[in-house]
Amino acid sequence: VIILAFESSCDETSVALVKNGRELLAQSTATQIKSHQRFGGVVPEVASRHHIEQIIGCLDDVFSETGLTYADLTAVAVTYGPGLVGALLVGVSAAKAVAFAHQLPLVPVNHMAGHIYAAQYSAPLEFPAMALLVSGGHTELVYLAAENSYQIIGETRDDACGEAFDKVGRVLGLNYPAGKEIDELAHQGKDTFHFPRAMEKDDNFDFSFSGLKSAFINTVHHADQIGETLSKVDLAASFQQSVVDVLAEKTVRALRNYPVKQLVLAGGVAANSQLRDRLAKECEQLDGVQLVKAPLKYCGDNAAMIGIAGYVAYQHGVRADMSLNAEPGLEFEWLK
Ligand code: ATP
Ligand code: FE
Ligand code: MG
Repeated sequence: VIILAFESSCDETSVALVKNGRELLAQSTATQIKSHQRFGGVVPEVASRHHIEQIIGCLDDVFSETGLTYADLTAVAVTYGPGLVGALLVGVSAAKAVAFAHQLPLVPVNHMAGHIYAAQYSAPLEFPAMALLVSGGHTELVYLAAENSYQIIGETRDDACGEAFDKVGRVLGLNYPAGKEIDELAHQGKDTFHFPRAMEKDDNFDFSFSGLKSAFINTVHHADQIGETLSKVDLAASFQQSVVDVLAEKTVRALRNYPVKQLVLAGGVAANSQLRDRLAKECEQLDGVQLVKAPLKYCGDNAAMIGIAGYVAYQHGVRADMSLNAEPGLEFEWLK
């Protein structure tokens, strides 16, 4: 089974060829980060235009790299949500065009399911599993009762965790997206500020990061006003420690309440080194829970992960017809 996968939900245009839901044959990704950096975030209209300019080139790349042709394809998978509507539409239109022209099954994929299945490039997923999904737009604990089943048990009540990294980064004068750089700075500093850890001990699986963000910004502004210079590395370390503590605490609470075989760590923020180390330690202490981390290079947005999630959906008979539309607000259902 060879799947052609498209991803264009945000600021990466990505096309991949994935064999049997395991093997990445080729991937071509055009990132737009440079175009958005001067605005400090993704500008939707700019994103759509870039996707239109880049997607055919990415498509050509994966075929020329592998020597495969459309005749070798089994199905076409595409991210149809969540994300920016104008950005999603580019991938959806391209996927529909290929599927229609070559009479191939069209498989709609939830971008967040893609993030989760990126972990399968590390190890096969085993069920039931729990996923900690941390990205630029989402912070969720997702219960995976079985393959192709996703149920939210908790989520952020305000900012996503990656969003908090990026906003705090802006205050520190870092480029967008700031997560990676904060991660690096944090290693050189200490948690001297003891920022709040919102909802850490609350009896639920939800998160909140806006209070942390405000506390951080207030601390920096106050220091500015009195002409004091704070340690950038200590600020980064303190912020990151607070985020990691809350994520770890709530994840462990979830693992205690829902017996699972694996904890899946996925999404752009899953690249965070401190979070990866901390969850590894927590899982060691929780007997029998295997930590499966998405490989670093597949934590951010990419089509390779859509190819695996698309394979899983394809095997489960998920299909779309030519009426497939982008669904910017697509969400998993809650576990009842
Ligand atoms: P979503 O997947 O929710 O639609 P998105 O696709 O924009 O949102 P991703 O591309 O999955 O988000 O992740 C991007 C986020 O990951 C950014 O906020 C970025 O700062 C963050 N990030 C990347 N590397 C790290 C890191 N090492 N530590 C912390 N955050 C990181
Ligand atoms: Fe993403
Ligand atoms: Mg991104």
